[in-house]
Amino acid sequence: MRCPYCSEHSDKVVDSRTATDGDAIRRRRQCRACGRRYTTYERLEPIALVVRKRTGVVQPFDRDKLARGIAQATAGRAVASDAVEEMADELAEWAARQGVEVTSDALGLAVLERLRPLDPVSYLRFASVYKQFDDLADFEAEVVELQKSSAPKSPERESS
Ligand SMILES: [Zn+2]
Repeated sequence: MRCPYCSEHSDKVVDSRTATDGDAIRRRRQCRACGRRYTTYERLEPIALVVRKRTGVVQPFDRDKLARGIAQATAGRAVASDAVEEMADELAEWAARQGVEVTSDALGLAVLERLRPLDPVSYLRFASVYKQFDDLADFEAEVVELQKSSAPKSPERESS
């Protein structure tokens, strides 16, 4: 470690302890050249989370890219940009809990689960990209599913 006072590269550790937040080691060092003391911190490097696509390609998880994808799906809809950012944060936390790798399928589903109650149109837009609807029939099937699951469960409406 280079001394911040005299730039010498020779020091000795005079004290070593866990920092108050518990995830760092704080070391007091003394320069062997000028005798002055300074502090260094040692921390764990965060583990990089990756997304595995269907093709097998692995990419670093990118929270901002995810937020942009959600923002695209919600464009022009009554979904606040705050809600999109909040969702991206939630998803980033969710992804971090999955371990070091998450599949693009699982990530897409996690997005859909959150978009569905928020706005059905945004949900369908995202689903059409994520599920790669091949034709109108796929899209219609999804709409029917959406209507089924979001229909109010009152007795009068179930009579049809
Ligand atoms: Zn020094």
